[in-house]
Amino acid sequence: MKKHNFSAGPCILPQEVFTKSAEAILDFNGSGLSLLEISHRSKDFVAVMDEARAIVKRLMNLGDDYEVLYLGGGASLQFAMVPFNLMKSENGKAAYLDTGTWAAGAIKEAKKFGTVDILGSSQESNYSFIPKEYTADSSYDYFHCTSNNTIYGTQMKEFPKVDTLMVCDMSSDIFSRVVDYSQFDLIYAGAQKNMGPAGVTLVVVKKSILGQTGRDIPSILDYEQHISKESMYNTPPVFPVYATLLTLQHLENNGGIAAAEARNTAKAALLYGEIDRNPLFETFCVPEDRSVMNISFKLLDESKKEAFESAWKAAGISGLNGHRSLGGYRASMYNALPLESVEVLVNVMKSL
Ligand code: PMP
Repeated sequence: MKKHNFSAGPCILPQEVFTKSAEAILDFNGSGLSLLEISHRSKDFVAVMDEARAIVKRLMNLGDDYEVLYLGGGASLQFAMVPFNLMKSENGKAAYLDTGTWAAGAIKEAKKFGTVDILGSSQESNYSFIPKEYTADSSYDYFHCTSNNTIYGTQMKEFPKVDTLMVCDMSSDIFSRVVDYSQFDLIYAGAQKNMGPAGVTLVVVKKSILGQTGRDIPSILDYEQHISKESMYNTPPVFPVYATLLTLQHLENNGGIAAAEARNTAKAALLYGEIDRNPLFETFCVPEDRSVMNISFKLLDESKKEAFESAWKAAGISGLNGHRSLGGYRASMYNALPLESVEVLVNVMKSL
């Protein structure tokens, strides 16, 4: 029986993506060859990469001033590539928002390149809210934020207007809601939530912001090198790129981001509705910053723990345990998770 997969990532993808990926591994495009055994420079794979780059711009409604890259190294590599490519070598200074473990990871790396000012942090309240009152002026090389905090279940509902470049880690809510993507100068996201399997990271960057730092950047870490080679500077992660293309095609063919947002909003309303109704449950974060993607919550009556856990497991639910640093439970409800899975979880919560 197929499980109801609430895993935080790697996570559920559309069933069609699994089927088509499996077919391509056995016989890619009727070529008599597996996707895994062909050259990344072959005509068929170059077409995959070209379309995987083009579809992102279509979905995000971005023009030719942006470039799309598929890179290795996870979102974590971007914690270092962003400052390497954007922070000036002389008196480099960047502004960061500290909204969770991943934001803190990005801050830690940026500090190795220059001065980092933290404009707001909710660390002292265990990241239960998103700091809001701050400004980033033009003395900063860029401003960095994390749109969705995968562990704590908080999400930026609005993005600030800043007087510098705007960089965003969208790993856990990319393509989940309608956003004006053109307000960002650089967006990055590990694929393994809303986009595809682990192993590739999406970078969308405005070309004009690059090449201004005075730093000698190793080629493999230089966005301009990757752009000049159309994301084939070195052998790209071919299978994750292909599965990402399939996932984005599935999104495009099913109403695009607006339709995904409507489905995601309905799923979140159902689960938050039950958490608010049921005195046994409570979220970790303040209501106004609740994430639509990751709902982190606790059970208030320890004596019901065993009953709850055996009930959700018996109902075919998987991946509901909270992150080890926070405890409790986390329902990750990415684009591919059907409403029916949330209904199953809510029914279990009601039955306690
Ligand atoms: N940023 C966010 C918001 C994340 O959720 C994660 C991973 N879950 C990362 C960065 C790190 O991603 P990776 O494991 O791909 O390096």
